[in-house]
Amino acid sequence: MLRRSLEGLCLAWLAALLAGPVSAAGYRTANFVVDAPTAEQARRIGDAAEQYRHDLAVEWLGGPLPRWSRPCPIRAQVAPQLGAGGATSFVFDAGEVFGWTMSIQGSEERILDSVLPHEITHTIFASHFRRPLPRWADEGACTTVEHPVERARQHRLLIEFLTTQRGIAFPEMFAMREYPADVLPLYAQGYSLARFLIERGGRRRYVAFVGDGLGGNDWSGALGRHYGLPDVAQLQGVWLEWVRQGCPAPPAALVAVSPPATGPAGDWSARGRGQSPDPAPQPSAVASLPGRRSIYALQARRPSEPGSATAVTAQPPATGVAAPETASVR
Ligand SMILES: [Zn+2]
Repeated sequence: MLRRSLEGLCLAWLAALLAGPVSAAGYRTANFVVDAPTAEQARRIGDAAEQYRHDLAVEWLGGPLPRWSRPCPIRAQVAPQLGAGGATSFVFDAGEVFGWTMSIQGSEERILDSVLPHEITHTIFASHFRRPLPRWADEGACTTVEHPVERARQHRLLIEFLTTQRGIAFPEMFAMREYPADVLPLYAQGYSLARFLIERGGRRRYVAFVGDGLGGNDWSGALGRHYGLPDVAQLQGVWLEWVRQGCPAPPAALVAVSPPATGPAGDWSARGRGQSPDPAPQPSAVASLPGRRSIYALQARRPSEPGSATAVTAQPPATGVAAPETASVR
């Protein structure tokens, strides 16, 4: 039996999150039991969790998940001044996943628009893959469904890390099954790479790529089959150049051509741009909740994320080797 904890957006707050009782009211949905300070908060969080579970499973997998045999408890600490963060744990055993628990904290707005979709995506991936993913692929994908403000923050951090020798070489990053001591670069770089891949093939291809890579532990082969790239090292170079250029979107004119199922990559810049973009976001009940800007409403018009491409160019992480980091946030 392998027990695995997935720590969410802001690991540093985990200790505070688990420190004391926070529940004052409960709310039950088909797949969640929420404890939150007020009954209204518990209801809003529970309904949003259920809606995200449905909508995000459709986006990532192409259809909703079956109901879990037992609901996932969500313990929510809600206060305006709290830093946003979350942790979800579950148990993998003999190809099954169960024993869900989720702890989340932050302002209600940030819980609803970032922490919850992030943590729910972890549960969708666990339900789908039924085995641990490389950390970059898991955290990176989960970060792509956060609010644009949070994603922009990750991009700013990425630029900082790449220019201070804290980038992680891709072969090393692809092999990581646990969090590194210097964890923040893993989040920032994982997010950026997940975004890069999803913008070129959509979420479902990303899931297919991860499943393929997991199946044979052959990530270079999976890159070739799903993205037309020869290997992980080549991906690092192409990705880094994309970051240097300011993360431009693939041209719409070159969209809709599927990559070859197998074979050498060839001119990846042309093939990569020929792949399908993210599917158009679908309106959902979550998106229409008043007083909140949902990821779905904003996905189609991602703001240009601030970042200094020149800073990367000025000091590129030639090998992307992470500097040793003695301090740990966990
Ligand atoms: Zn996470």
